[in-house]
Amino acid sequence: MYTGEPMNPDCIFCRILARKAPASFVTEDAFTAAFMDLHPINPGHVLVVPKTHAVLIQDLPDDAYAQLMAAARRVCAALGRSPLAGEGTTWYVADGPPHQEVPHVHVHLVPRHTNDGFRLVFPPGYGKPAPRIDLDRAADMLRALTPAPP
Ligand SMILES: [Zn+2]
Repeated sequence: MYTGEPMNPDCIFCRILARKAPASFVTEDAFTAAFMDLHPINPGHVLVVPKTHAVLIQDLPDDAYAQLMAAARRVCAALGRSPLAGEGTTWYVADGPPHQEVPHVHVHLVPRHTNDGFRLVFPPGYGKPAPRIDLDRAADMLRALTPAPP
């Protein structure tokens, strides 16, 4: 259970959760909080975070992950009803290097507009379907490593 003290004093999101650093909170419950991204891609860009300090999604307990996704869905729905709504919302999670800037799990909710300039840049050669044998081998390897549901 969250105590109100930073779980990791070196983590900016833990400090925000403990009100040791500023943020503009959208909502908060016993397990999660949502606040505005300090560097919004578009107006209305929200971060949803668990109150459990974990760097990677797979490090979160199942219940904390479920609470995080449920909170993100609620905030996404609110965003869509607000004047900040885009034509849609991009959910983005950088799960580790090289793109995770804050080492505390967070879901970006970014309102999107046609031609807003935010996009994924695909590597050279992208677009050609992979050979089925390669896809099957990758699927087999990952299936063997994927734990069964609890
Ligand atoms: Zn943290």
